Amino acid sequence: MIHLHPQTVLLLDAIGEPVQLATTDHAFYLRRVATIPFVPPGRPEVGTLAAEACTDGTNCVILSRHGCSVVADSIDLAHKRALYLEEAARLTYRALALGRPLAPLPTDWLTPGATA
Ligand SMILES: [Zn+2]
Repeated sequence: MIHLHPQTVLLLDAIGEPVQLATTDHAFYLRRVATIPFVPPGRPEVGTLAAEACTDGTNCVILSRHGCSVVADSIDLAHKRALYLEEAARLTYRALALGRPLAPLPTDWLTPGATA
């Protein structure tokens, strides 16, 4: 698990906009992105809520107004997921700035053994 403070992810969270998955890499590596409500840093509820958010296969959890935690079997994969999370947030932001929100990305092609 890695923990980061990605700027665009946090900007979208602060304005109440979810991170949209824009590409097949986002869908494959991120699958689902969960957000937990604001909890002051250092409180044990942060870990409890983040762990609960990961029980359905979610591997990226946005800690509202703080950062994100990303889980994976390796640091390299966790880092890749974190980079794709921030990339998805940047694209979401740009689309919103253009006044053209991203269309939903089909995800029915995703299967447990699918590769990107
Ligand atoms: Zn932090």
